[in-house]
Order: sequence, then C-alpha cells, then structure tokens
Amino acid sequence: MSSPLVIASYAKLNLALRIIGKRPDGFHELETLFERISLHDDLALSAASEGQTVIECDHPGVPVDGSNLIFRAAALVRECCRVNYGVRFVLTKRIPVAAGLAGGSSNAAAALSGLNVFWKLGLSRPQLLAMARKLGSDVAFFLYETPFGLGTGRGEKIRSFSVRHKFWHVLVTPKAPLLTKDVYAAWDASLTKESSAVTMLVSSLRKNNISLARQQLFNDLEKPIRYLRPELSSLFSRMDKAASGGVCFSGSGPSVFALVKDQSEAERIASMFRGSYSQVFAVSTF
Ligand code: ATP
Repeated sequence: MSSPLVIASYAKLNLALRIIGKRPDGFHELETLFERISLHDDLALSAASEGQTVIECDHPGVPVDGSNLIFRAAALVRECCRVNYGVRFVLTKRIPVAAGLAGGSSNAAAALSGLNVFWKLGLSRPQLLAMARKLGSDVAFFLYETPFGLGTGRGEKIRSFSVRHKFWHVLVTPKAPLLTKDVYAAWDASLTKESSAVTMLVSSLRKNNISLARQQLFNDLEKPIRYLRPELSSLFSRMDKAASGGVCFSGSGPSVFALVKDQSEAERIASMFRGSYSQVFAVSTF
C-alpha cells in the first residue's frame, strides 16, 4: 500500500475586516485582508473503496459526516471531474473550531488541492477556484501561494500580493464558539470603517512599519462580537495591556490576536495567557 499524501492546512487571520453592506442574496459585501499563519492542521489522503469518502478526525467538535467541508469538497471534485474514486481523509486538528480562523475552509481547500494530486486530475487553479467558491467564502484564499490576500465580494474574490516581511502574533482562542451567521446578523451599517482603511494597512505592512500597522488593524464585527460575548472584552483588554496595543478579533471571533514586534515578544506574551486559556499560540505569517 502506498504512503498517504499529507497536506498542511493553514489557518488565517483577518488583519482588517470591513463590511460594506448586506447584499440581496443575504451575504455581506466585504473587503478583508487575509494573512495565512503558521498554525495548521494536517490532512492525510489515502485510498478507499470506489466512491467512498471516509473522514477520521481526532477532534470531537468536527463532524465526520457529509456536513464536513472536506466531504463536500470530495463530492464536488467527483461531480465536476466525473470520477468515482474513493478516498480516506485523516485530519489532525490543531486549528480551533468555530473560532474565526477558517479551519474548515482551509481543510476544504487542502482537500481540493490534495485530490487534484492524489487522483491525478490535472485541474488548473481557475478550475479549483471555481470549486472553492461553491464550498464557502473563505476557501479560495487558501489556494493561493502568497500568504497575504485582499478578499472582496463575500471574501471569495482574492487579489494576492507580495509582502516581503513576516510578522509575529500572539493568538488566544477562548472556548466560546461563535456562529458566523449570528455575528453578521448583529452587525449594522453604522459600524463600517472608512474606505481607505484596508489600503492604508497594506501599505504599512509592505513597508514593515509594524508600529503603524498595529494601530491600523480593525474588524467591523468587533462590536457585534463583544455584544454576543461580553466576557471577551476582558480578554481583549488584557491582551491590549500585555501587547501595548495592536490587538484585534479575527473574522467573526472569538479569536483575539496581537501584532507584535518579533518571535520573543510573541512567546513572552503567549506565556502570560497560558495559565488562563488552553488555546494560546505564538504564530507567524506563513
Ligand atoms: P468561518 O469563519 O469560515 O465560519 P470558523 O473558523 O469560524 O470559520 P470552522 O472551524 O471552519 O469555523 O468551523 C465552523 C463549523 O464548521 C464547525 O462548527 C463545524 O461544525 C463545521 N465544519 C465543517 N467542516 C469542518 C472541518 N473540516 N473542520 C472544522 N469544522 C468543520
């Protein structure tokens, strides 16, 4: 039996998340700056009986049935490519679930690119992107090689761009899962940041101006997240004090991160939170 194909499936942070408005289709129009970070799951692919998708995962919060995005990715690939091969996925989960880090979306992208190799399908990136967009708004970003991308539309239209620098973060994910749809439902138009806000942050990152970038991080969902989970405000304030600013929520929360100057700062601050929270990470751009 051949050895499994193992794909690293990375998490993302939203360094900026600007919500422009609600669309007629019920989704929100947004502009967001994605950063791929070093925290990752591993997805191993091996053969299974004809037409079967088997998923095993070491995390009890992850469904292993047809609702798993990995399962949906495999079904979509079979349908689009008219193949009926079987596949077994073994998912080693490190990315906290329902945390605003897009773990499920990243796994779906890893499944798409993994199956393209495993089943020797020869799909081009535009073909993979078309499938990614059917699976969810955040999936497309993970099909790009560069760690930074500007997402528009529902977040599925990506313009990747190069930033020569790598950044460090402390990331704390409290065990207070938030449903994306609830957070968006609590958003209102008065919370939208000015239109130049994302571009200004991109410019600071490109210049490696961390002290300015730290002041420019923002998330238009911050108020709804705090409203739905008031207890997160104390974590946010504690992080803000520990890192002297530069703190933000990722996606629809509850993950809170700080942009810090280097690895030792990230490790130092992370250690301050490990006594009170179980999911604390020192992570970098990846
Ligand atoms: P998003 O911001 O895209 O909603 P998230 O990071 O907040 O993502 P996920 O970790 O992707 O949240 O999980 C959201 C829900 O998706 C989970 O509660 C889980 O039931 C479901 N899910 C489906 N597939 C997966 C997967 N492969 N890994 C984790 N969760 C999954």
